[in-house]
This record gives sequence, C-alpha cells and structure tokens, in this order.
Amino acid sequence: MTILSGPHLWPASRAGATLTVDLAAVAHNYRFLCRKAGEAVCAAVVKADAYGLGADKVAPALEKVGAREFFVAHVDEGIALRKIVSESARITVLHGPRPDAASECVYFNLRPVLNTLEQVELWKKETIRQQEVLDAVLQVDSGMSRFGLSWQDVQVLADDPERLKGIQTNLIMSHLACADDPKNPANEMQRQKLLEMAAYLPAAPLSLSASSGIFLGAAYHMGLVRPGAALYGIAPNADEANPLRQAVRLQARVLQLRHVGPGDGVGYGLTYRPQGPCRIATVAVGYADGFSRQNGGAGCAWFGDIRLPIVGRVSMDSLALDVSAVPEALLQVDMHVDLIGARRSVDDVAASAGTIGYEVLTSLGGRYYREYID
Ligand SMILES: *Cc1c(COP(=O)(O)O)cnc(C)c1O
Repeated sequence: MTILSGPHLWPASRAGATLTVDLAAVAHNYRFLCRKAGEAVCAAVVKADAYGLGADKVAPALEKVGAREFFVAHVDEGIALRKIVSESARITVLHGPRPDAASECVYFNLRPVLNTLEQVELWKKETIRQQEVLDAVLQVDSGMSRFGLSWQDVQVLADDPERLKGIQTNLIMSHLACADDPKNPANEMQRQKLLEMAAYLPAAPLSLSASSGIFLGAAYHMGLVRPGAALYGIAPNADEANPLRQAVRLQARVLQLRHVGPGDGVGYGLTYRPQGPCRIATVAVGYADGFSRQNGGAGCAWFGDIRLPIVGRVSMDSLALDVSAVPEALLQVDMHVDLIGARRSVDDVAASAGTIGYEVLTSLGGRYYREYID
C-alpha cells in the first residue's frame, strides 16, 4: 500500500463516524406536516444549516416536494440559501434587517421579519432608497418576551400608519412559548393576543405555529405554519407517539476493543469501575463531534438489537461502550455501532443528555463523513 491514499480509500473509510441524512424522511415529514396543517401554507425552517443536517441538501429536497417558503435566522443564512433554492422561492429572515444589511436583503430578495420599531423605520427608509414597495413580516410579542413588537409598539404603528408606508405587510407572526405542552393555557392566551394585536395592524395572513403548534389543532394553523424540528424527525410533544420519521443515523467506528474486570477503571477520572469481567469498545465519537459529555454513563449505542451502555466519561474524540452483550466474534475493530439510529432516536439521545433534540441535531459535528440518501 502506498502512503498517499489511493482511490480505493474513500473518505468514509477514514472518518470516525458516518452521519447518514435521509432526505426521503425529511420530504415525507414535510408532506405529513402539510396535510396536518390543512389550508395553511407550510413553510420550512432551515436556519442553523437545516438544524445541522445541511441546508444545501435539505432545502432542494424540500423544494422538490413543494416547499416554496423558507425561514432562516440570519441575513447571511438567507444569502447562502438564495444560491441554493430557486429564484421563486421566498426566503424570510427571522432576525430581520440590520442597518448595514438592509440593502443586501433587497439585493438577495430576502423578506425580513420586522421585530422592533427601529427595524420598521429602517425598512421604510430602504423602500424610499429603492423607490419601491418592499415585502415584510411583522412580528408581535404575544407573550414570550423574546422577539416582536410590544403592545405599545403596535399602538404607535396604529396611530401613525405613515410609519408603514411603502412596506407591504404580507404576514403577521408570533411564536408560542409552550406549544410542546398542549394543555398549557399559555397557548390559547398567546393565540388570543396575536389576534388582538393583528387587528391594529394592516390586514395580512397570520402565523403562530412552529412544529409543535401544528399539533394543537386547526385554530393554530392560521395562514402559515413554520415547522423546523418536525421536518427533521423531532417529536412535537411528549404526549403522543412521534408520528414523524427519523432523518438521521449516526454510526460510530470501533477503534479498539479490550477486556477489563474488577479493579480496572474506564476513561477520565476512572469513573466507571466494572463489577465483573466485561469487554469495552472505544468508538470514534466524542464531545468535539457535538456528542455531549452528558451522555457519559447515561446513554447507549446499539449493535443490531443489542444495547451497549456508554460507560465512563465521554472524551473529546471517543467514548467507551460496554459491549459484553455482543458475542466476541461478531463485533470487531472497524465495525460500526449506532449512536443514533432505528433503536435510538435523536430525542432519546437528548433525554439521556438532559437536553432537547434540537440541541443534539444542531451540535452534530463537522468531522463526520456525511452521506445523503433519498
Ligand atoms: C426556529 C423557529 C421556528 C421553527 O421551530 P421548530 O420548533 O423547530 O419547528 C419557527 N418560528 C420561529 C420564529 C423560530 O425561531
């Protein structure tokens, strides 16, 4: 074998782990959410590189099944997405324009969300500069105290319609704080508040629901829904079985295998002390790959139908599994185990790590070999 890698060595064979993104599952989830949302337009939220899955692959796959509206958080994400999706696709920027980026929004045909009176003023100035009417979304704060115009701000706009001159308000939106908890009365309070606030603003379709809100019923669908997480397989709430398809699989390579027993310790701090003889696999995923240290001693991997507990602390580039349950001849160095897969969802990993599926996905590391299937 030569030192320089030959063409027979494809990158997957060198990577510590393979991340497989199932674009057919994403497309299936989009269609499912469209049906669920009834008459409402179903947009697709692809901020944070499509929640870590790769917007350059995910957005075209969504377009293919009919998505025409995309949401991102930052102007730069919008500029990047504009080069990926078709010219006719609408891209909305949740954080809205910044003083030094308003004209870029126009140039790249990005529709901003206006969250403050300052952003309204900035966008109005841009309409004058461009000498044309410009589209925008108005966001109101219906109770989350995060983004959007307050009651006082809405009153200011209602009293002085000149402030919105030149701005075509083609959506009024807000965001639910507790949508993953269907029984929480805050949901209905926020819905009412959005309706009340919108009554003082130019007539436009309304939008309140992200993924979880879609499952709160027709009253929450309004003109447009904005799912992100559900597209990528995250469960909308804990009350019912997850109706969505898992979109990612993470397979970690076994780097080394060894026998340990009573008296031995495993990993940093020697926090895992086996009670009896066991076999330990060191696999090539660590916290530098976005696989949280919180999984240490908590989560598990799967080898086919065999559960493999994560033991000891998660290292930067590796973690340890107790693979005693696998017959020795079956699991060898260079084989792969599933850290996320058919037996272990993104939400399962999140639960072990004390976080949410959103964070597991958006943390997915840059060192994985990525494979896209559809
Ligand atoms: C991120 C985001 C969404 C998508 O939320 P999911 O829970 O991932 O569906 C929708 N709307 C706004 C304003 C957001 O910030």
